[in-house]
Amino acid sequence: MADPSKLHAMINARCPHCHEGRLFKYKWWNLLNFTQMHENCPHCDLRYEVEPGFFYGAMYISYAFTVGIMLFGGIIVFNFFNDPPAMGYVVPITIFSLVMVPFNFRTARVIFIHLFSGISYEQESINS
Ligand SMILES: [Zn+2]
Repeated sequence: MADPSKLHAMINARCPHCHEGRLFKYKWWNLLNFTQMHENCPHCDLRYEVEPGFFYGAMYISYAFTVGIMLFGGIIVFNFFNDPPAMGYVVPITIFSLVMVPFNFRTARVIFIHLFSGISYEQESINS
């Protein structure tokens, strides 16, 4: 059962339960604080870390993203920089991977909490 508001909530990094409250405290371009999440949903008070260490699982998704990012970078370098020697790959791909860290980290957590937490959407879910 795919509902369109779930995709919308994922793109906007919102709570998987109410689709309203934000998951993260700051915007992704806040490079010192982009990893900080709310402990509980500001809207419905759902606790995001459903069990201790829950978000460690997001590292598997993050790992897959990193592989994809590095493959993509490798293909770009190969095609547009005429297959340079090894350092011609290492330097740009490392920089590209680092630039993608905020996206990678947050998207992995959003996907993980939305698809693997077992939390389902309820339209009127205000606990307090
Ligand atoms: Zn919520």
